[in-house]
Amino acid sequence: FPTIKTFDEFDFRFQTSITKREINEWLTFSWIEQRQNKILMGAPGVGKTHLSIATGFSAIHNDYKVIFYSMQNLMEEMIIFEAEGKFENFIKKIQKFDLIIIDELGYLPLKPIYANLFFQLINHCYEYRSIMITSNKLFSEWSSFFGDNTIVTAILDRLMHHCEAIILNGDSYRLKDK
Ligand code: ADP
Ligand code: MG
Repeated sequence: FPTIKTFDEFDFRFQTSITKREINEWLTFSWIEQRQNKILMGAPGVGKTHLSIATGFSAIHNDYKVIFYSMQNLMEEMIIFEAEGKFENFIKKIQKFDLIIIDELGYLPLKPIYANLFFQLINHCYEYRSIMITSNKLFSEWSSFFGDNTIVTAILDRLMHHCEAIILNGDSYRLKDK
């Protein structure tokens, strides 16, 4: 994790799109057992990264294997494996984790090759591993950064099949006291 964040530090009065009760349900981790996904969407500063780190951190404390990537780090790692002709090894590595967290999808536009690799990742985890994605974009805006409608449809089809998608509203916590 880039830093440690916990649910204890999360102010549910500031961010009311998600409740303590819902988080307590997450913390049973039945969704990981059932290989379900979670997607958190919302503007910068609404707490997406905080919630994803806190979720991953709690999952590790419950003996789940978790890997955390920023979308950028994920893309960089995937392209290296691909360039070396070892993309299968990357998939094998990822499949060892119960939960794969991908933070900040949507900030950078992706070249078609990346969209394709991302699709392969999602496809190999489908009904096999849980994925948590945070994004500053709503689903309707995903095609613009994947740059390919067909691939976005295929990605969303798999991601959304067993998935809880949450839109976090409200103001940026970063600007709270500004
Ligand atoms: P996002 O990923 O949505 O852009 P972050 O999760 O990185 O936002 O939140 C920005 C900063 O504000 C972080 O330091 C985070 O810990 C803090 N933060 C955001 N929302 C809350 C909240 N509801 N309670 C406490 N801290 C918060
Ligand atoms: Mg973030």
